[in-house]
Amino acid sequence: MTPKTKVCSRCKLEKSLDDFYRQKDGKFGRRSECKKCILEKSYIYYENNKEYCLEKSRKYYSENRNHHKELTYNWRYKNTNTMPMHKATYSSDYLGIYIAEQILSKVFKNVTRMPNNNPGYDFICSNGYKIDVKSRCLTPRKNRSSVWRFCTRYNKIADYFLCLAFDNRSDLNIKHLWLIKNDELRQSKSDITITESKIDKWKEFEQPIDKVIACMKEII
Ligand SMILES: [Zn+2]
Repeated sequence: MTPKTKVCSRCKLEKSLDDFYRQKDGKFGRRSECKKCILEKSYIYYENNKEYCLEKSRKYYSENRNHHKELTYNWRYKNTNTMPMHKATYSSDYLGIYIAEQILSKVFKNVTRMPNNNPGYDFICSNGYKIDVKSRCLTPRKNRSSVWRFCTRYNKIADYFLCLAFDNRSDLNIKHLWLIKNDELRQSKSDITITESKIDKWKEFEQPIDKVIACMKEII
């Protein structure tokens, strides 16, 4: 039978086996120095070799950055069920671009998609109009009607905003699409806030969504 305690080779104290890290070929399957001593030793080493240690961990981290990200994502997905945006192919932002492509090519001629993170707009069409795509899920508000709030206030570059309204992050059903000319907003100086109960106010900008829903089914 394995005893429940062991004497640490460094501090010479008798400690419970739980106070020693596991090591297959160690005495009683544990390392010879206790956890506390190992920590202390590595701390002293770190203090005396700070620059070297920092450089080493920086190097290790940068060489293994993707692996680290992967681990974090996997953990997060497993534990919280949320996906990082670039992997969430069913997320509203990701879908937004694809849906936008479909819709815009029906409204404008020859729509060209800009590279990711292009400042101010996502698409440009043959007549030179710059179009920024905004996608939002419905945000519930306490004692008030829910809203879609599209952050458009600081965008002076885009000629049009294509606003895609989804119901929520988990279902991602598209509810409305508005194509709003930036000029129409210039006076208001605020973001586009569309209240669910006052949706008729935006009717003139609304685009048909039946074709969009069909193309969404292909994407998901
Ligand atoms: Zn010890």
